[in-house]
Amino acid sequence: MTVKFQAFHSIKAINNREVLFNWSRTNPLGALDQVWRPTHSDELQALLREHPGRKLRLIGSGLSFEPIHSVYAEGSQALLVDLYHLRGQLAKTADTVTYQAGTPLDTIYADLIAMERMLPASPGVIGIQTLGGALSTGTHGQGLYQSALCDAVEAMTVMLASGEIIRVDRTDPRFGAFVMGMGMLGILLDVTLRTVPNRIMRCTKFTTDYPFLLEHNERLNREHGFVKSWWFAWTGESHIWLVDPASDDEVARYRAAGSEPLLLEGDIDARMNATIDATLQKMAKDTKDEALAGEHFETVRRFKDASDLVGNVYQILCKGIPAPQINCEVAVPLNRMNEALETLQAWQQANPGVLHYPFILRCTGPSEAWLSAAHGQSVCWVGFLVYLAADGTFVNGSMEQMRELQQLLVPLGGIPHFGKHLAMDLYDFPALLPRWNDFVALKRELDPHGRFENRWLSDLFANR
Ligand SMILES: Cc1cc2nc3c(=O)[nH]c(=O)nc-3n(C[C@H](O)[C@H](O)[C@H](O)COP(=O)(O)OP(=O)(O)OC[C@H]3O[C@@H](n4cnc5c(N)ncnc54)[C@H](O)[C@@H]3O)c2cc1C
Repeated sequence: MTVKFQAFHSIKAINNREVLFNWSRTNPLGALDQVWRPTHSDELQALLREHPGRKLRLIGSGLSFEPIHSVYAEGSQALLVDLYHLRGQLAKTADTVTYQAGTPLDTIYADLIAMERMLPASPGVIGIQTLGGALSTGTHGQGLYQSALCDAVEAMTVMLASGEIIRVDRTDPRFGAFVMGMGMLGILLDVTLRTVPNRIMRCTKFTTDYPFLLEHNERLNREHGFVKSWWFAWTGESHIWLVDPASDDEVARYRAAGSEPLLLEGDIDARMNATIDATLQKMAKDTKDEALAGEHFETVRRFKDASDLVGNVYQILCKGIPAPQINCEVAVPLNRMNEALETLQAWQQANPGVLHYPFILRCTGPSEAWLSAAHGQSVCWVGFLVYLAADGTFVNGSMEQMRELQQLLVPLGGIPHFGKHLAMDLYDFPALLPRWNDFVALKRELDPHGRFENRWLSDLFANR
């Protein structure tokens, strides 16, 4: 059977073999003949029971940057399992919904809005991830009064390496491990998520300077629902979004306009326009796209003439433009956010003209997930990225720059996002994550033969 892949999956030939790559086209995941799309969980169970020696990794939408989901180096018998056919809603109650793990987040968000509900977790910038993939690496948005998507989970059905199927809910002491299991504890089959009434929000956008950011970013995060800051460190400008419940009048206007995103004319902020034009030029040079044609330009163009907006949380916060990139995100404890800003500011002064995208600051509250940087603490996620050129190359020095920035954040207690780029040798995970060793012990108990492990994960979990 020919397997059809979604547009964002990338296939390239290596030695006459068609190989599926991760979404940024930087890491091979497996040859196409290693990809398997079971049509029912029974087939998966039969595979696990009847072929106990076979290794497998799950793949969602393939967005994770590192080869966390790769079987490319695991031998031709290893399988890349894609739950493409295990998608869709299974059940709903007044305040929960249950979805199969292969369902794209966008589908869940659209269904919820149709039910006038939303998740009690703010979304990330895109929704093309699968539910299973997004949970497994701790996908998060912003807001100190919530944490990650994981924290909206009520229960999960998981198939273990033995083929046994278990239900894990919040009463299970292992809940925090399974909810962000990196695909190492078992296969998420379906997930029950808590829902809350949909709230129409207003996003207030403004541009400020570095001293203001330093003095007020934490306060803004404490005073507002969801806060997101893009810090153009090379000019000092910071563009900030404050997202809070809209007024009755704004909600009425939004509803009258058909519940489409409502731009509030008259609140246009053009302060960023000159910086944006210069940033576009720098990006064009770095990505060899002088015509400014690539999608990545839209990610900065949208800061021009920014106007306040009314909409649901997904219309406001989940409108990222996915373009191939090396993305990296490191969380520092919230009480060290300002030290992080000062450190990055000093780095920027010593390295002018390097960045082509602002630092992205997103604070979140504590998470229950054992492997989340936010486990048991509020954090500020600091994101940085480099866009790739159309030919898949990136500007010289990009990886060194990514490493240097991570190195600066490590002494501040920095912990990386496992779904993005990370230089794993920089981090002492058992010291940084209090439940790391518990996770390792559980992994050994549930998957003693490492069926769900690959080389990258073995390195990550090797004793350092
Ligand atoms: C453009 C872009 C924007 C992003 N924005 C954000 C953001 O705003 N916030 C954020 O936190 N992250 C963000 N990310 C990171 C992204 O959310 C994670 O990489 C996420 O894991 C991707 O989901 P996926 O479905 O592509 O999973 P994949 O990358 O395919 O897989 C991720 C992991 O999940 C495992 N897995 C997949 N399905 C299952 C399953 N059913 N059971 C068990 N394990 C499974 C895989 O084995 C792998 O280990 C972004 C990434 C990109 C490229």
